[in-house]
Amino acid sequence: MMPVYDVHTHVGLDLGFFLRGWRPYAAWARDLVEHMDAHGIDRAVCFPFTFPSAFNAVAFADQGRVELLPGRVPFDRENDMLIREIDALGVRNRLHPLAMIDPSRCVNEQLRNLDRLAGPISGLKLQSTIIESPVRNLLTTGRGLLEFAADRQLPVLLHATIWEQAPHAQVDDCLAVAEAFPSIRFDLAHSLAFHAGHLRRASQIPNVWVDCAALLAQCRLVRDGSPIVAAPADRLDADYARPAQVLEAIHAILGDHYLWGSDNPYMSWCDDHLRLLYSYADEAAVLKMLPERVRADMCSTGPEAWLFGRKGNTL
Ligand SMILES: [Zn+2]
Repeated sequence: MMPVYDVHTHVGLDLGFFLRGWRPYAAWARDLVEHMDAHGIDRAVCFPFTFPSAFNAVAFADQGRVELLPGRVPFDRENDMLIREIDALGVRNRLHPLAMIDPSRCVNEQLRNLDRLAGPISGLKLQSTIIESPVRNLLTTGRGLLEFAADRQLPVLLHATIWEQAPHAQVDDCLAVAEAFPSIRFDLAHSLAFHAGHLRRASQIPNVWVDCAALLAQCRLVRDGSPIVAAPADRLDADYARPAQVLEAIHAILGDHYLWGSDNPYMSWCDDHLRLLYSYADEAAVLKMLPERVRADMCSTGPEAWLFGRKGNTL
């Protein structure tokens, strides 16, 4: 049997979120592995939290400012700590770490750090909105980061949104980046906000996968009429009160290029405006409601193709 994967999880600590009163702000690898064990998930792709210690956490908390600290490089500590934690807990056979990147700042220094981690990491991840670092910069200032991934055949995971107030991670830009680097396997997160046109376009690009991270929160946002997800005219037709049916509708477009990810622990999200509370158990319960064929595509065949570039490669 092929292993069952969760392709989108965070491990680490976010002092900026904590001081700002935003939640969640921390999770260690053992939390994640316990959730996986409780719900039949064999392996997970994991990466650090979104606002790393290289930035001024107090300025972020008190003034919403994103300010790199002197002498620091984005994710200069967190990427290493993640590898060390996985090794310390002896879970290298369960967790596939991705290194977080920032395409707008200190790219050469990041590349030196990444060279050191090239063995243990399984890919790269960009969460561009919190650090205000446009995904498009992967084609200019941050191009070296994608060349690093291409040279080593590493997959890349991009946060993706259609929300106007999050210009750094627009789906259009993520797709343009993927088209510019056809040799890299990209996973675009959060079901492309259920935008039917974007999902269809993604299905036409062979090196693009999409994950369903934070599915329950996203479905809730639809039901609440939030601008964070696609407006009715653009939205994929599905019953958003039945998240399993939403997965099936998107799978019908993307097939095994649609991946299951929990977003642990960010399946819950509490900031100044939103208060969404879901658990790993809630997300995993949706999986159980899927037809076996869809579940196998989303949790096994698809993740292995995206991660390793070859179907059925179980490491
Ligand atoms: Zn995430």
